[in-house]
Amino acid sequence: MIRSVLSTQPVVISEVPLQIDPEEVLRFQGYKKGRDRPAPAVAEIYEQALAEGERLMKPRAVYRAVTVTARGADSITAAGGVELRIPEIGRLWGAVESVGIAICTIGEALESRVGELWESRELPLAAMLDSVGSASAECLAEYVNDLLCQVAIGERLKVTNRISPGYAGWDVSEQHLVFSLCPGDPAGVTLNSACFMTPTKSISFLVGIGAEARVDHYFTQCRRCWMKACAYRRAPAERTVRRN
Ligand code: SF4
Repeated sequence: MIRSVLSTQPVVISEVPLQIDPEEVLRFQGYKKGRDRPAPAVAEIYEQALAEGERLMKPRAVYRAVTVTARGADSITAAGGVELRIPEIGRLWGAVESVGIAICTIGEALESRVGELWESRELPLAAMLDSVGSASAECLAEYVNDLLCQVAIGERLKVTNRISPGYAGWDVSEQHLVFSLCPGDPAGVTLNSACFMTPTKSISFLVGIGAEARVDHYFTQCRRCWMKACAYRRAPAERTVRRN
């Protein structure tokens, strides 16, 4: 487990008691939060896919931190000279001193099962299980982001919300730079020349770390954090991505 959010040695996070957020599954199915509900026939498939997903996912992540040597309005340079070009990151994250890089995956078993279901033409279940896999990877990334915040509190540091290549204007081709800063192999994740991760239900992300880092720039992290007794909580928990 992570002892320091500034660990420069890659740390593997395993044995994660991950709770899949059902709302996230529905979002991947195109349902609007708080408005659309699945019809009874769909709800049955949804329950089946959730149960299969919980059995098949093997959540795992690798994490390491790197010192920041330069900051610009739209860029961050990490020790070793790796420059990440992320639009508006200077404004969004403020004065970060390090970046933390995490590569998260739920493993291959779920996507193999989705492949089998497509082969046997069980299409509704295949599509729903695929959404469960995508939601699980998102929840895992959220879990790790929460965990980093919790560890950082003990070090009097703040951790920003995560950002991933391919989102918020950050070019997906910089996925290679992310992998050069943190190897995916300890979590069993590889990257090909087209920036495609294997297993596919994987997420890489970056967070900013620092005593003066700006947090919550697009989402109040505490809303999904399970740390009940946190004295620094900024919002009540609506739901968590950790099994109790
Ligand atoms: S409750 Fe908020 S401040 Fe406390 S550890 Fe969780 S995310 Fe961080």
